[in-house]
Amino acid sequence: MRRKIVAGNWKMNGSKDLAKTLVGHVRSQVESLDNGVEVVIIPPAIYIGDAAAQAGDALALGVQNIGQWESGAYTGEISAEMAKDQGCRYVLVGHSERRQIFGETDDEVAAKVKRLVISDLNAIVCVGETLEQREAGEAESVVAGQVRKGLAAVAPNQWSHVVVAYEPVWAIGTGKTATAQDAQAMHASIRKVLAELGAPAEEISLLYGGSVKADNAAALFAGPDIDGGLVGGASLVAEEFVSICRAVPASA
Ligand code: PEP
Repeated sequence: MRRKIVAGNWKMNGSKDLAKTLVGHVRSQVESLDNGVEVVIIPPAIYIGDAAAQAGDALALGVQNIGQWESGAYTGEISAEMAKDQGCRYVLVGHSERRQIFGETDDEVAAKVKRLVISDLNAIVCVGETLEQREAGEAESVVAGQVRKGLAAVAPNQWSHVVVAYEPVWAIGTGKTATAQDAQAMHASIRKVLAELGAPAEEISLLYGGSVKADNAAALFAGPDIDGGLVGGASLVAEEFVSICRAVPASA
């Protein structure tokens, strides 16, 4: 059965102090949740140690990016094995900010996913269309293309390490969200593409991201193909993030 996941992407926000206080608070609140949600904290990599000291067994940790290489002369990069060494279990790949600001391509996404699954880490692969693409009626084909290219190198025995996050670019950090109906339709379409790739599509967790808040999370997570959320801004506010984690429906 696929996992229910809520992951908090802090982006380039936070501090050593926040990594201690917020992670400690979130842990104390989610420990008692009985909806089966796996909660993942993804702070800036430099704060992983501080977050890990507070996370206990109740929270998983992740990083926002890795370099696609094993090791070597790549100043400023961190490797999959380094993330694993620090206790991380998840890594974001292909976030739209990396695609748009840093020019990350589908080929790089595929190389990073390959590196992660080899290292037994879980890749949260982000896909999503721009507003222009949605208005041109291209949303489904753009997202399908990103899924096909980004996951091209996954071997049949590696799918358990893949999570896909559908994040319409126009909804990230804007306060706009896809309607619950549109989000569900896109998740169902992604699951179909995964099946075409030979993946065990029903077993793969699909997350929605894009201005998820405490007051819209339950409606979004009610979609049968939506297995939780990737949360940016709201993951920096402890009570808001905990409410989002609570909004995940218990597995049937
Ligand atoms: C994100 O960074 O992946 C994200 C979805 O951000 P926000 O929740 O702030 O829109």
